[in-house]
Amino acid sequence: MERIAVAGPSITEKEVAYVADAAARCWGSNANEYHDRFERAFADYVGVNHAVAVPSCTAAIHLALAALGVGPGDEVIVPDITWIATAAPIRYLGAQPVFADIDPETWCLSPSAFERAISRRTKAVVPVDLYGGMPDFSALREIAESHQIAVVEDAAEALGSAVHHARAGSFGDVGVFSFHGSKTMTTGEGGMLVTRNPDIFRRVLFLRDHGRVPGEKMFWNDEVAYKYRMSTVQAALGLAQIERIAELVARKRQIFAWYAEEFADVPGVTLNVEPKGCENSYWMVTAVLDSAYGLKKEQVMAALALRQIDSRPFFYPLSSLPAFATTPGAARAQLENVVSYRISPWGINLPCGMQMTQTKVRRVADTIKEILAVRSSACKAA
Ligand SMILES: *Cc1c(COP(=O)(O)O)cnc(C)c1O
Repeated sequence: MERIAVAGPSITEKEVAYVADAAARCWGSNANEYHDRFERAFADYVGVNHAVAVPSCTAAIHLALAALGVGPGDEVIVPDITWIATAAPIRYLGAQPVFADIDPETWCLSPSAFERAISRRTKAVVPVDLYGGMPDFSALREIAESHQIAVVEDAAEALGSAVHHARAGSFGDVGVFSFHGSKTMTTGEGGMLVTRNPDIFRRVLFLRDHGRVPGEKMFWNDEVAYKYRMSTVQAALGLAQIERIAELVARKRQIFAWYAEEFADVPGVTLNVEPKGCENSYWMVTAVLDSAYGLKKEQVMAALALRQIDSRPFFYPLSSLPAFATTPGAARAQLENVVSYRISPWGINLPCGMQMTQTKVRRVADTIKEILAVRSSACKAA
């Protein structure tokens, strides 16, 4: 039986042609040709003025927070449920992450939990568009504005999602994206920082190129900063992918629709939501099982793996990770973030790479139903 991967890109002749062209021709004075086209196309798609291609989304978050002036003594609020890349750059800058609870429906940062987590030291908040779903940005922004807190939207998982036709990545002072191989579009590794703010844009260009002003005196650095540039061949790959973004997002939505159909009449299986007015690009199809099944995510993943199906665990709360064991407030977050701790043990990400077909979706769904049925008959017997 063929093993079903959890993620995977769609690469066509177009990508291969652009990459080959970049490798053959784009050096010296042509070196930025694909960056310029990729950044322009990307900014237009998201609906913002400026886009800066960088080596990863982690780098984009680092740059965004640095440009906003986050430093030692500051606190930055993040949802407890996310990939560590959302929070790690806060520590790179000597500031402290504060882990706030998620909303039970969207699985994204809860506005009321965000408000409770604010202190005198809070400098920024990094809401995450989890698995393609969107938090309540109108509430988050209102709270952030009233406390003069900067908003960095971690849209790594949500390229193509929208709320009332405004695209993911356009809701904060800065938005960031990932082009890791598992994401909706890929450059192998890579990321993008977007903003409408010309001052942040200028500061980002300065900080990402060893603290020098683009185009000014050569080898003249005003500050010690970072080196965060994307390579030309990656930018070529990225341009080909963003030119196909409508097709890629449509594919994600199709894969989700197949799963939704398969699970429509299965009780106790909750999939990603798409609230009214939102468009979810469904980066990761995610199933949260009712705790009554008594099946922890690790058990389900192991059972699927035996049947040649890869899956991933719903993120563990950051406050539960050894990496943050000594972070002030992590122990309290473990007690207070009840929604994060209630949902996380029972959630798995299902295979939803670009190579998924309806037949494969059916095989995954049938296997899960089998696992659940085995479990519920075992429960009855006991
Ligand atoms: C993938 C991801 C990132 C990090 O992306 P990289 O490009 O691997 O640095 C950040 N935040 C979230 C929510 C992600 O899913």
